[in-house]
Amino acid sequence: MALKTKEQYLESLRKLNLKVYMMGEKIENPVDHPIIRPSVNSVAMTYELAQDPEYEDLMTATSSITGKKINRFTHLHQSTDDLIKKVKMLRLMGQKTAACFQRCVGMDAINALDSTLVEMDQALGTEYHKRFIKFVEYMQENDLTVDGAMTDPKGDRGLPPHKQADPDLFVHVVEKREDGIVVRGAKAHQTGCINSHEIIVMPTQTMTEADKDYAVSFAVPTDAEGVFFIYGRQSCDTRKLEGGDIDVGNAQFGGQEALMIFDNVFVPWERVFMCGEYQFSGMLVERFAGYHRQSYGGCKVGVGDVLIGAAALAADYNGVAKASHIKDKLIEMIHLNETLYSCGIACSAEGTKSASGNYLIDMLLANVCKQNVTRFPYEIARLAEDIAGGLMVTMPSEKDFRHPEIGKYVEKYLKGRADVPTEHRIRILRLIENLTLGTAAVGYRTESMHGAGSPQAQRIMISRQGNLEAKKELAKVIAGIK
Ligand code: SF4
Ligand code: FE
Repeated sequence: MALKTKEQYLESLRKLNLKVYMMGEKIENPVDHPIIRPSVNSVAMTYELAQDPEYEDLMTATSSITGKKINRFTHLHQSTDDLIKKVKMLRLMGQKTAACFQRCVGMDAINALDSTLVEMDQALGTEYHKRFIKFVEYMQENDLTVDGAMTDPKGDRGLPPHKQADPDLFVHVVEKREDGIVVRGAKAHQTGCINSHEIIVMPTQTMTEADKDYAVSFAVPTDAEGVFFIYGRQSCDTRKLEGGDIDVGNAQFGGQEALMIFDNVFVPWERVFMCGEYQFSGMLVERFAGYHRQSYGGCKVGVGDVLIGAAALAADYNGVAKASHIKDKLIEMIHLNETLYSCGIACSAEGTKSASGNYLIDMLLANVCKQNVTRFPYEIARLAEDIAGGLMVTMPSEKDFRHPEIGKYVEKYLKGRADVPTEHRIRILRLIENLTLGTAAVGYRTESMHGAGSPQAQRIMISRQGNLEAKKELAKVIAGIK
């Protein structure tokens, strides 16, 4: 089976024996939990759209391993065209879900590992790439959702892993056995982990020899012995327990982050992709981050499209669509959003072939892309809030709107243009609220800041890749300085 249907995906998730905790309780059926389900639906959309002939070109690809048709989320990019299609796919997914659809982290992890492991094997004489390709083939053949787990809790940021008061603040190898390794630690804010079949763990930063035990990468099923999850709260998440569909803003889709614990987890050798090769930890981190920074030039733009559309509708419903300052604000939002997209496309078009044959993004441009993502969605959100007006955060609830006695007052006094149903106005304002302040704001705002690395991480990469010396030479030549 190369492509799973949405239903097969949901069924496969139900079969997993996940250990999930939320708000102090163990969740027996995460798939159907009202707080979790919208995030499951977002991932399910990656399966649904892959079945749709209209989106086949973006959503599917030909496997470089088996030659079969596979979901692009499991693909090793074989050209700059593949890299561009990835960005377009993520924009499409953002438009369809208006949320984080989570499946990109695994795609970015396999692409980063693919080239890094070939270079590592060549340099150190190891044989990790072969077993890694077997894992990717298994992922493609079963159309799996794989989580890419990089961010450790990190404890005292001023200390390296081995100097931490608690050695478990970074995932590390606690035992090497003949048949595999035992690992302990945690990964923080893990996107989509509960909606995934497998987890690929990678080191969180460049490791030195003293931190060799922390230079570890491997894959484990999400329901492996010793793995468990503590669900992350999102702003306004308990609105999903209220039963209505207006106040949540986006009743169908959402994102998901959780704290993932590895409590002495056994990993057989065939699933270990790095174990002590600290010299290549930095390359793996940079490449994964690079791919995920490229990703944001697609996903955030797609969500931005929905937010811009919602702001334009709010203006329509308020009867101010023709006001010049409104038109200008919408133009500014489009300009900022398309600038992000341009960065995503540019770092893809400038991609290059790696040692393993898959394609790497242009690192400088990918980092510029993400640096802009740490800013522009905030401005787009600010303009959306400006256009929406204060009612977005002061409206009575859906229950009041539906109330047999007071409902008519909500209907009457929340009316905008006479020809637009009050409910439409409420719904669009709640959507803007969701994207800027509610559950989707995790993915659209704070994740724009910190996801794929906080702003300073990009600035370090920009300073490394910016080639200031070459620019100085250019200036000297023009100025006539010998
Ligand atoms: Fe994908 Fe964007 Fe979510 Fe990252 S933030 S997993 S790129 S949708
Ligand atoms: Fe992210």
